[in-house]
Amino acid sequence: MEQKYNPYDNMLEVLERAAKMLELPEDDYIALKYPERELKVSIPVEMDDGSIKVFEGYRIQHSSSRGPCKGGIRYHQDVNVDEVKALAAWMSFKCAVVNIPYGGSKGAIKVNPKELSKKELKSLTRRYTAMILPLIGPEKDIPAPDVNTNAEIMGWIMDTYSMFKGYTVPGVVTGKPVEIGGSLGRKEATGRGVMFMTHEILHRLGLPVLGTRVIVQGMGNVGGIAAKLLYESGCKIVAVGDVSGGVYKKEGLDIPKILAYLALDSEKLLVSYEDKGVQNITNEQVLTADADVLIPAALENQINSGVVNKIKAKIIVEGANGPTTVNADKLLEAAGKKVVPDILANAGGVVVSYFEWVQNIQSLMWDEEEVNKALEKIMIRAFNEVWDKSKEMNTSMRMGAYMVALDRIVKAKKIRSVFP
Ligand code: NAD
Repeated sequence: MEQKYNPYDNMLEVLERAAKMLELPEDDYIALKYPERELKVSIPVEMDDGSIKVFEGYRIQHSSSRGPCKGGIRYHQDVNVDEVKALAAWMSFKCAVVNIPYGGSKGAIKVNPKELSKKELKSLTRRYTAMILPLIGPEKDIPAPDVNTNAEIMGWIMDTYSMFKGYTVPGVVTGKPVEIGGSLGRKEATGRGVMFMTHEILHRLGLPVLGTRVIVQGMGNVGGIAAKLLYESGCKIVAVGDVSGGVYKKEGLDIPKILAYLALDSEKLLVSYEDKGVQNITNEQVLTADADVLIPAALENQINSGVVNKIKAKIIVEGANGPTTVNADKLLEAAGKKVVPDILANAGGVVVSYFEWVQNIQSLMWDEEEVNKALEKIMIRAFNEVWDKSKEMNTSMRMGAYMVALDRIVKAKKIRSVFP
């Protein structure tokens, strides 16, 4: 097993490796080892029983060299500052690899939102927004949904920010409801991007899409949509998992039926899903099921030294951020497995967030077809650049992606570093 897993150390190790491969002097990238700004807030909330509870929250900006910072907000009981720092840095690299004009940031609140009432969740969100207000704004730092946050929560953030400003500011968040300036196609964008990347890697390896056996870990926004779109494109989704465990069917699962079941209410989990020929399995069995493609779309540290050698899939498309530890990654590489890395594979969300922000600034409304076409174009261009870089340097796609991203960030940093 890994020594104590720290996502920030993980990020630093990958950054260091990519910088060495590019033969960059340390002066060129040393600043990227540290976030530009870290804000920690203590958020008091009046609970339904009248008591006051204080929650820990963060907003961390990693780099603004290429534009305003951009990054989601996560609500999770286990978040810590190093995780948010890593997620913020990954956002800088992600925006650079798909070449959209943003830097990277991330926010989080240490909370299990399932334990709060809707009223408490709303108060928490509004108070958190007020407390991070000096950092955010359409020209400064633009939040979006992440684990356990959604369009409704983004709507509350947008409304709170607008109240303080005294006028409506749609561009302060992305992934908000369409009724208040959200973009068509944003909800599906990350999963759609994962589907494009899965198709691309299959094409590159000369494998068919039709009948390809796929595993998806995580049935939330990213995993659920990726499973649905891959299912619709002819893949056979043999296993899916969530926080409670997973389900398996050799002949392929009925994904629309599973998603309809999970959508019944927020309490529904796969552990209680039953259907003819469907086997209930553990989280480890989800990752190690017999399949061609594995899509981790839950949390970090899922593909670690403990499980990596049991993984049968030859292709891994990282829907989640940081699902693979550095050690496990080396073992995957040694085993000849192809990994489409997170900063490329799950970038569809931030690409359409960028489109949403552009629409907000220009007061335009694109139709969904336009959004999806533009997303596909950017994702495929980025895939090709990463693929070519990894071939040119005889390295993994992860290293290829980091090299493409790092090169862009370092160039921007150099242009902007004239001020003493
Ligand atoms: P979500 O909250 O909608 O869904 C998370 C899913 O993971 C749920 O099905 C949950 O049950 C499952 N899960 C949680 N803990 C688990 C565990 N220990 N084992 C197995 N399954 C577990 O979150 P999301 O928005 O789909 O985000 C998933 C991942 O994708 C995260 O790493 C996130 O940072 C990343 N991501 C999200 C977006 C986005 O647009 N939402 C964009 C890029 C990357």
